[in-house]
Amino acid sequence: MKSTDVLIVGGGASGIMAALTAAKSGADVTIVEHNDMLGRKILSTGNGKCNYTNKKMGEEFYRGSNPAFVNSALSQFNEIDTIEHFKEIGIYPKEKNGYMYPYSEQASSVVTCLTEAVRNRGIHVYLNENISDIRKEDGFIVTLSKREINAKRIIFATGLLAGRKSGCDGSAFQYIEKLGHTFIDIVPALVHLKSEDSFLRELAGNRAEIKLTLYENSEAVFEDRGEALFLENGLSGIVSFQASRYVSYALKKGSKVVVSLNLVPDVDIEEVVSRFKGDNFYKSAKTALIGLIPDKIAECVIKNAGLDPDTICMDLKNGDIDRIIKWVESFKVNISGTRSFEDAQVAAGGVDTNEINEDTMESKIVLGVYFAGELIDIDGMCGGYNLQWAWSSGYVAGLNAAKVE
Ligand SMILES: Cc1cc2nc3c(=O)[nH]c(=O)nc-3n(C[C@H](O)[C@H](O)[C@H](O)COP(=O)(O)OP(=O)(O)OC[C@H]3O[C@@H](n4cnc5c(N)ncnc54)[C@H](O)[C@@H]3O)c2cc1C
Repeated sequence: MKSTDVLIVGGGASGIMAALTAAKSGADVTIVEHNDMLGRKILSTGNGKCNYTNKKMGEEFYRGSNPAFVNSALSQFNEIDTIEHFKEIGIYPKEKNGYMYPYSEQASSVVTCLTEAVRNRGIHVYLNENISDIRKEDGFIVTLSKREINAKRIIFATGLLAGRKSGCDGSAFQYIEKLGHTFIDIVPALVHLKSEDSFLRELAGNRAEIKLTLYENSEAVFEDRGEALFLENGLSGIVSFQASRYVSYALKKGSKVVVSLNLVPDVDIEEVVSRFKGDNFYKSAKTALIGLIPDKIAECVIKNAGLDPDTICMDLKNGDIDRIIKWVESFKVNISGTRSFEDAQVAAGGVDTNEINEDTMESKIVLGVYFAGELIDIDGMCGGYNLQWAWSSGYVAGLNAAKVE
């Protein structure tokens, strides 16, 4: 039977970082990955460009049952360490508004450089292999499809369920639960919102800079600003993605979910009112809003206010203008769901952080077991935060798992 100091289950971002760190610390390291390559998911990150970290970093960019859990790992391996580490393996950085990409703007270059680093460190890699059993004996006996391995330490870095095509199928969860761990509900996050509101069909393809407020049973639970993209059956764009984890959890509870879009977050509302008065009396209600709001959205606002978009402003009553303004400031979309894990960039939920030592990533239930990456109940916002969590938690898990006596 093959023996290894540190066995890492999952050869994605966090597993690779854990492996490189453990090997650098002198441990014999083995990665088991059920895909036919390491880092497959990284290929599709950042629209193929890999937004691998962000110069603005901190707990405020993370969510989960206890977002403060990230602080220790981020302090041990932060965004500057990531940029330096990537330079060392060949990735020169390019910054766009704090978002960091490889200068080549090719996610494939990140995968190639990481894979070469794994090879250069002498890390054993078993591809196309699945776990079929884990027994705690002297260390751990791990049964794979083609072999058994005796490992002193195990790091689980399997991700959750997002982007299933890249290998995150939940097949390792049963072994983690068998070891005594519990999962916080896993839901899609950073994903499109679904709506059955029929007016969206007319808006498909339109974009607007908005402020989004998410209401769960009429209570505001999330607010953000950014670009929304209207789809015929929902909403996309970064601002909708950021809201999606809250939508997922609210709908899971059976709550009613509505998003309200302020279509003119920077404009004084008196300016909007004045567009229907004075010299604009001859304009139609629809054209009164043009130049402020994209025309299709303007037309929809007037219709949703119960008016014909061609109504001449001079025929509008004060109550009509009030209703239009209400829709401009609070364009309501009923949310019926999110797209599936398949389309999600990340999954929220995961192994309960109460069961993990935040300074070492070691299990508090079974010593010698470690966790890294998305598998832990932490999800980041758009902007390189999920990969930074993978690098930071992978580093900490690898460093501590390598301390084999
Ligand atoms: C389309 C898309 C775009 C994204 N863009 C960005 C971005 O630009 N910036 C950013 O920060 N984040 C981005 N993310 C999120 C980011 O990719 C993930 O958060 C990150 O990859 C998580 O790393 P991980 O190591 O925890 O999991 P993963 O990278 O998912 O790796 C887990 C690995 O474990 C393997 N595995 C699973 N189960 C088993 C098993 N039983 N046996 C063996 N192997 C197993 C999987 O095949 C996989 O290779 C994006 C995600 C997607 C899907």
